[in-house]
Amino acid sequence: MHNKPVALVTGANKGIGLQIAKDLAQQGFAVLVGSRRFEAGESVVHSVGPDARTIPLDVTDETSIAKAEKRIRETYGRLDVLVNNAGVGHGGDPTRSNAQIMAETRLSVVDLDELRTVFATNVFGVVAVTQAMLPLLREAPAAKIINISSATGSLTLNSDPSNPVRQYTSTYTASKSALNAITQALAIELEGTRIKVHAVCPGLTATDMSEYGGSVEEAAREPVRVALLGSDSGTGTFSNAQGALPW
Ligand code: NDP
Repeated sequence: MHNKPVALVTGANKGIGLQIAKDLAQQGFAVLVGSRRFEAGESVVHSVGPDARTIPLDVTDETSIAKAEKRIRETYGRLDVLVNNAGVGHGGDPTRSNAQIMAETRLSVVDLDELRTVFATNVFGVVAVTQAMLPLLREAPAAKIINISSATGSLTLNSDPSNPVRQYTSTYTASKSALNAITQALAIELEGTRIKVHAVCPGLTATDMSEYGGSVEEAAREPVRVALLGSDSGTGTFSNAQGALPW
């Protein structure tokens, strides 16, 4: 088991993260199913594969991150792929209607506590997990960091007045723009090392986060394709299933 490459997927107890975990297991990885709720991870881990394990991991909790890093170091001694998938769509009252969420997460009105909550997971969580896992990623012969982002965070696409999606810019899309900036900065910092850093948009997908969209199977395809690219494939890319996306 320890000869297999090792992948950690954060927020993998459901949705797109769970499907990415399944697909990586299919591709021969020992997969760590990150879940802030251990029981939720345990309830799905058997569906991921025989070499999958649940790893308790709340990306907003430094102690939880440190414990996860320790477990991975003691069991595997390295990490080949880190998929920063855990994310939240909003950070306020979960019983609000979609229309209310859309109205209340506009940057002109959003409550700063809600803004902080969304950034805590979608941005600071990614940086904290990545920083903690870097020593383990450095132990892998060729490592990947895949940040699950969104085309709605593309500043270039949002600058185009003919892009209909730009009307949905919000707290969430700003968090993905920040995630893109972090992806690019990390890719530049790690140039010349064995660690490649990528942002991937899974596309609009029907999950607990979004009422509408395609299947999780379709959504997982691009992140998994990028995770499997050879070590000579470059770094600092942003893509979806249709190809390269502009930052
Ligand atoms: P889901 O809501 O189905 O899944 C989100 C996952 O993240 C859950 O496992 C959730 O855990 C976990 N999570 C949330 N906060 C934390 C935390 N603090 N620590 C650890 N795990 C956490 O959403 P999706 O599967 O749709 O989203 C996955 C990723 O894809 C997100 O980054 C999202 O922004 C991105 N994305 C989604 C799109 C879509 O249309 N669905 C489109 C573009 C991007 P729990 O079960 O405990 O809540």
